[in-house]
Amino acid sequence: MADKSYLRPALARMMAYAPGEQPPPGKYIKLNTNENPYPPPPAVVEAIRMAAGGPLNRYPDPMATAFRIAAAEQLNLPGPEWVLAGNGSDEILTLLVRGFVGEGQKLRLPYPSYVLYRTLADIQGAVWEQVAFRDDWSLPEAFGESDQDLRLVLLPNPNSPSGTVVSPERVSKLAESLDCPLIVDEAYADFAEQNCLNLVQQNERIMVTRTLSKSYGLAGIRFGFLVAQPQVIAELAKIKDSYNCDGLSIAAATAAMGCGDWLGEVQERMKATRTRMADHLTSLGFAVVPSQANFVWCQHPNGKHQQLYEFLKKNQILVRYMEFPEWGDGLRISVGTDEQINACLMLIERYLA
Ligand SMILES: *Cc1c(COP(=O)(O)O)cnc(C)c1O
Repeated sequence: MADKSYLRPALARMMAYAPGEQPPPGKYIKLNTNENPYPPPPAVVEAIRMAAGGPLNRYPDPMATAFRIAAAEQLNLPGPEWVLAGNGSDEILTLLVRGFVGEGQKLRLPYPSYVLYRTLADIQGAVWEQVAFRDDWSLPEAFGESDQDLRLVLLPNPNSPSGTVVSPERVSKLAESLDCPLIVDEAYADFAEQNCLNLVQQNERIMVTRTLSKSYGLAGIRFGFLVAQPQVIAELAKIKDSYNCDGLSIAAATAAMGCGDWLGEVQERMKATRTRMADHLTSLGFAVVPSQANFVWCQHPNGKHQQLYEFLKKNQILVRYMEFPEWGDGLRISVGTDEQINACLMLIERYLA
């Protein structure tokens, strides 16, 4: 549509969020969007097959009850009413911003972190405020300062692109000093030593989002969820699409909750690869931030990050080049299989030689 005057001004002004490149399968070794390099648990694939043989002419369960029961059990929550299922955790984030932040009101996020939060604020006609991490990736006190217009604070934990974490103790203190909800986006928590799930029961204003896209190898089915107190879940459920999750993904996600052993194995394997990758990059002269996620953020003193990204791409390896104004640039490399990481490291060595 050429005539933007029909659009709400907030939309006419905003820039679209640019997700990482998704090339046709097989063309690249894909280390750019933090997907799991391993296929999902076989039980999940089987559950999708079974569901495909079911009544596809019928609408799915609007609240994904089977999943909520399985998730509550797997995560030791008091009950299914503490869980809201979404079409990816990105949809959950959309619901949170839609539910809590009105036009002209403010949301806060750390910097550098997940850029999508800004897009969600823009759609809402809201204002976003970034609080920069300190040099050691800890959060300054300003992140917990309350403010009349502030309606929502979002914290990816582990953070992207750094892979660093803020401790649950600190998150709890931040929530106490703020007087609006604090969302802990735990997309990568399955690769971390600690998480904030237990805080949800202590403070109504702490909410945790999770996704099956990263640790469970299910980015292709689009399933994420929110853990929050039941009275919050009930309110947010009012603003979701009636059938926001389809029957096949509900079946897949429900089965995934029973795959704890599979998850444990993949976690260990990927953490070992992460360590090896970080050590090797360090030995090549990179500054590597210690990561608790399934990627590492690295910067080389030669500063040729974009050139290295291009070189890798020419050689069929995709990593994420990221540039943060007034902060700097670098490469975020997802943890792949050992083979994929070996290929990537070999090319980097060749580039630097
Ligand atoms: C990948 C990612 C998500 C999105 O997950 P989906 O469930 O695939 O929508 C949310 N937050 C962060 C920080 C992520 O990196």
